[in-house]
Amino acid sequence: MKVLVVGSGGREHAIVDALSRNSQIQQIYAAPGNGGIAGQARIVPIPADNIHALADFAATERMDLTFIGPEVPLSLGVVDLFRDKGLKVVGPTAEHAKLESSKIHAKRFFKANRIPTAAFFECSNANDAYRYLETAAAPIVVKADGLAAGKGVVVAQTLEQARAAVHEFMEARSMGDAGTRLVLEEFMTGEEASFLVFADGTSFHPMVVSQDHKRRFDNDQGPNTGGMGAYSIDTILSKEQHTAVIESIIRPTLAAARTYSGILYAGLMLTPAGPKIIEYNARFGDPETQVILPRLKSDLLEIFMDIADHRLGSRPVEWSKEVTAVVVLVASGYPGKVENGKRIEGLDDAARLEGVRVYHAGTRLEDGNVYTAGGRVLNVTARGTTLSQALDRAYAAAEVIRFDGKDYRKDIGKKGLAKG
Ligand code: AMP
Repeated sequence: MKVLVVGSGGREHAIVDALSRNSQIQQIYAAPGNGGIAGQARIVPIPADNIHALADFAATERMDLTFIGPEVPLSLGVVDLFRDKGLKVVGPTAEHAKLESSKIHAKRFFKANRIPTAAFFECSNANDAYRYLETAAAPIVVKADGLAAGKGVVVAQTLEQARAAVHEFMEARSMGDAGTRLVLEEFMTGEEASFLVFADGTSFHPMVVSQDHKRRFDNDQGPNTGGMGAYSIDTILSKEQHTAVIESIIRPTLAAARTYSGILYAGLMLTPAGPKIIEYNARFGDPETQVILPRLKSDLLEIFMDIADHRLGSRPVEWSKEVTAVVVLVASGYPGKVENGKRIEGLDDAARLEGVRVYHAGTRLEDGNVYTAGGRVLNVTARGTTLSQALDRAYAAAEVIRFDGKDYRKDIGKKGLAKG
């Protein structure tokens, strides 16, 4: 079998790694991949958003299956295109991917299907937004409607900040077309959790729950990022919360979005009134995938094939009881501008540590050496029997890896440790 994985992050490295445990696969291809994926898959230099070139490649090379990692090709209709060409692909259609690519579409969907979420006001011109803010209370959340790589959300502590965000998005057009329409949303309090499911249009299987760390600095300070770390342990949700998420959020969503297939990722707020949905993603999260897939005991290729063939309900998906953690090593300056091309050392030493696996994100392989090539550089993942063991192992490996400007958060998993 030949399998193509589209994307280039730590998420895709973890997917390639999980797929490579299947012995039926002769070759994994990755487009465009990264320096670490290059060790486990054949690199195809096609950018993830060039959906026509991807479909041509998959057709010419007779791929048996393609998995789409990132949101942009999904929103551009890569799945529709592959299906039109008779190619087997896992992911939602562009119509279903709108649950992620338009926050207004998502909020209307939640409301229409009585899925618990923050109260909201949608607007398509700045004056309406300013007028609404005259009677609103802070804190309030301002969200650009379109895809903005995690940068389209401002949690405004004051109405002054909210007005400034409206100005940035709608008048200064800082997010381009993504900010043409906005959602102004009630601020919710509580812990966040990431709840992902495999879905095939008829049935679904929940994955193990995880928690990520979006802010750049310790104690959730600083700007939002693509993700600075995550951990996965079953106690993130109580039994009652787990049931509530499935019954009040996941089941009604999939009942309404009837043919949704692929990965559905619910970003949750565990409010005092019960779990509420913050947002949906139409794909695996990054870095959550790096802590979820190492706990998967079932075969990922079989699951993907079952999704593509609409027979996901025919067998269970099994997970280990282990705990996993990931610490993201970033280049100094991230999430702003960073300098690339720094040589990375210590990767082999880190990989030899017990329970440790390093997934690459912004790296480049050249003449056997690995160099930095992006803001989020490496994902140091570790497993353990307890959260503190998994974290200790990940942090020990993070110390062993060296490159100029290396930085990382020192408090990943702190909330989980406090729970005991
Ligand atoms: P999103 O891209 O919609 O997941 O938002 C990014 C982050 O902003 C979330 O992970 C939350 O930390 C925060 N956020 C978004 N919406 C809300 C809300 N209504 N109340 C509180 N925090 C929010």
